[in-house]
Amino acid sequence: MERDLSRKGIRELVAYIPGKAIEEVKNDEGVKRWRKLASNENLRGPSRKAVEAIKGELGRIHLYPEGPCSLLKEALARHTGLPGESTVVSNGADNLILMIAEAFLNEGEEVILAHPTFPVYETAAKIMGGIVRKVALKDFRHDLPAMGELAGEKTKLIFICNPNNPTGTIVRKDELERFLADLPPGVIVVLDEAYGEFVEDGQYPQGADYVREGRNIIVLRTFSKVYGLAGLRIGYALGNPELIDCLNRVREPFPVGRLAQAAAAAALADRDHAEKSIKTVAAGRKYLYRELARLGFPFVRSQANFILIDFRRDGDDLTKALLREGIIIRPGGMWGYPTCGRVTVGRRDDNRQFIRALEKIKGPGTKG
Ligand code: PMP
Repeated sequence: MERDLSRKGIRELVAYIPGKAIEEVKNDEGVKRWRKLASNENLRGPSRKAVEAIKGELGRIHLYPEGPCSLLKEALARHTGLPGESTVVSNGADNLILMIAEAFLNEGEEVILAHPTFPVYETAAKIMGGIVRKVALKDFRHDLPAMGELAGEKTKLIFICNPNNPTGTIVRKDELERFLADLPPGVIVVLDEAYGEFVEDGQYPQGADYVREGRNIIVLRTFSKVYGLAGLRIGYALGNPELIDCLNRVREPFPVGRLAQAAAAAALADRDHAEKSIKTVAAGRKYLYRELARLGFPFVRSQANFILIDFRRDGDDLTKALLREGIIIRPGGMWGYPTCGRVTVGRRDDNRQFIRALEKIKGPGTKG
């Protein structure tokens, strides 16, 4: 380009690099069956009821969907205990993060994030001309006291990824409440609960409870993880009606397609599928902890459906070696963990194949 025609805010951004899709790698030789452990999807697949609901809706796809997702919001109100005015549905939590920045962030206002955390917060903040201030994780966990100290007059948004992607750690109720009590007024806290359903820790704070108390909190949830609908793109945000009204003002007219709305309502009603998915992940985490310890690989204990593992060698090299075994993982370099990788917890067979591949690559007799 002769002249840079882009807006100032996006000049230093680079396009998001997702985990490799099976479609990208499937032509590589020799691999009969790919296991994608790179993007924290539900490896049990979607609820059968969701698939049936999609089939039932297919004959209507010539009609625009219902923009505000009112029917789904009614179902969500029963699920969350919060009224419809406290909920906005859009095409994935990714899009909701951008909507939050669009609705609330003026140029030059500050956004506080942990580092490393989910990268879309930073992108959204920069698109809107926000100033991003990052606070390093402490022992792989959010350092809430340090994040709180940074918060001042210029702060508009604070993102807390709970559980945090890529570490799988959580902030606990007592920590969060202390943090919230000391915040200056005019700050909105975004609690990203994309992986909330997988948490076992009894000290996990449910964001919806704080919304109910009327605080300046927006909770993000998604149908991409436990509900197994990542390919459809649908998620929602919860907040007090004034905050949600602001998000509705920046919402696209028809953000969520008919198939996604129908599938999400059916998936939400299919408790059995969700519960089995949660159990699969809980059992998978235990199995992987045991095997990783046996093989001598340090890891971070996770409350989500992925585990950050220290492979004690170059994470990119190991990722390539695993690809040759048909396993796709996410190398940790982009988060500043060059010897690590993030691995989705799958079904028993997926986890076993991953461990088998790891053993093969590692070779006999060497620790870690
Ligand atoms: N938040 C976190 C922490 C995530 O890991 C992801 C997906 N990887 C999202 C939000 C986005 O989810 P969605 O698929 O709903 O856009």
